[in-house]
Amino acid sequence: MNETSATRESLSRQVIDTCLAMNAEGINQGRAGNVSVRCAEGFLITPSGLPYASLKPEDIVFVDLDGTVEGPLAPSSEWRMHRDIYAERDEAGAVLHAHSTFATALSCLRLDIPAFHYMVAIAGGSDIRCADYALFGTQALSDNMLAALQGRRACLLGTHGMICFHDNLEKVLGLGIEVETLAKQYWHARQAGQPVILDDDQMRDVLEKFSSYGRQPGRGRSEK
Ligand code: 13P
Ligand code: ZN
Repeated sequence: MNETSATRESLSRQVIDTCLAMNAEGINQGRAGNVSVRCAEGFLITPSGLPYASLKPEDIVFVDLDGTVEGPLAPSSEWRMHRDIYAERDEAGAVLHAHSTFATALSCLRLDIPAFHYMVAIAGGSDIRCADYALFGTQALSDNMLAALQGRRACLLGTHGMICFHDNLEKVLGLGIEVETLAKQYWHARQAGQPVILDDDQMRDVLEKFSSYGRQPGRGRSEK
């Protein structure tokens, strides 16, 4: 096995582990959703329509940044969203898309998640936008997503679900769980009344504090 295939196999195993963790965390429904990781010349992505529990490393599909697919299995129907994130956002090392319940419910109402809680800053700004609707698997959906992701690393997808990216698979799973948690909290707060929205100055302070939060000597940085 040469170095590239050894690396690809190891990354493919990590993609499968992330999918199984999405199921265990309850942020994915059935066969919906997809996960990818950047690798040399392109990315490795889950195949279309197969249950995660049945996946083997060789089922994970390599796609290059031109959209050329290697191997017998079709990649996720949403490979364009993943490709466009890797092409447009150099900082992206992994992408996660899910139909998690509360993020999807808000997306069906076409609601952005505003600064009802300071943790929305985890997506990079003072809100998490909802992209306009387009048919799943289309370039139009990816174009709408890129617009909603400006200055952010997560967004809702109108009448569909959510998508996010981060440096690596571990971090993108954490972000996906956080986005779903925020959607759930916002949903509940709206049931009881009109949540107070933090203003621009308050969110500027949060974003500034996030840039240094969680640094511990010799222990790297916890994610915010
Ligand atoms: P795939 O199984 O093709 O990845 O599709 C799932 C999905 O969520 C489509 O939006
Ligand atoms: Zn989907």
